[in-house]
Amino acid sequence: MHSGIWRASLTLAATIAICAPAGACLAQPVHEAAQTCPTDPLAPAHMPVVALDTRPTAAGVAAAYGGMQYRRSSGLAPKEIALTFDDGPNPNVTPRVLSVLRQHCMKATFFMVGWYAKARPDLVRAVAADGHFIGTHTWDHPDNLRRLTPAAAESQITRGFEAVHDALATAPAAEQAQIAPLFRFPGLNDSPYLISWLAERDIAVVSADMGTDDWRGIGPAAIEYRALRYANESGGGIVIMHDTKPATAESLSDVITLLEQRGYRFVQLVPAPGARERALSVPASLLYPVQPAVQTATVVAASAAPGPRAADPVGAWIQTCIQSVQDATRDLVAQVQTWGN
Ligand SMILES: [Zn+2]
Repeated sequence: MHSGIWRASLTLAATIAICAPAGACLAQPVHEAAQTCPTDPLAPAHMPVVALDTRPTAAGVAAAYGGMQYRRSSGLAPKEIALTFDDGPNPNVTPRVLSVLRQHCMKATFFMVGWYAKARPDLVRAVAADGHFIGTHTWDHPDNLRRLTPAAAESQITRGFEAVHDALATAPAAEQAQIAPLFRFPGLNDSPYLISWLAERDIAVVSADMGTDDWRGIGPAAIEYRALRYANESGGGIVIMHDTKPATAESLSDVITLLEQRGYRFVQLVPAPGARERALSVPASLLYPVQPAVQTATVVAASAAPGPRAADPVGAWIQTCIQSVQDATRDLVAQVQTWGN
């Protein structure tokens, strides 16, 4: 029933038990007394993970998860919830979301927009450094990839992955490895053509089982109410939230606690073992090999030396202007996102 789904749990010693759905564990962990999250007594200290098989079907269709659109089970048990955050990183919201997740000892999966990742590589690194996985969500979030030419849509997806890779290019290998072969369509507007195109690259499509309507611009109380209501209706599953909405950050801790109090448990969606290697090995891969981190000392020495760029105030002014235009455009994109997601 959960064919191809792998489940894992972390023990105190951080060893991983990977079990087939039927329960045949490949490596049996030594279970120690469950440790509770110090700042959330209803959460474990180490979050269980549910790993998604990213291999396409024999018919050449990409692995696609989320009951709102697809039949394939994400492997979550009833009343299990996997947190996912779209459209970031955002300087005003993403750090707050990360802080709440740390407070609850929770890991999530982020679907980033390339433009924002390029603008704030520090936030991409912060997300990866906290152990969250990062999928992508196009370059600049066109509402509906179906309305683009195939070449333009492919470019949107490719550039989204490139931007996240670039943001982590000088990050430690462990952070670069957090880029997952997972993609979410803006507005969940998929197409058979693009699903096949992603299948050729061993990229899985992640939709959702429930939302919170946070993208509609509703307040924290409304987000909490809808999270409970939709969880009750769907039984849990993959939930979409947005780390671009202040109300999302404001409500997140209460949403988590309210769901915990009603018996829901949280898991992290991660790519199955070997998924990254497979996505790297295909022609026209959207993932790149992990690069060794640049030596900080070398960078400092190079930039300390006088050079034309450092002594070029006109160039710096032009850069400032470009940044201002980029900021204004990002604001516009964010505004458009509030109209329809
Ligand atoms: Zn989105």
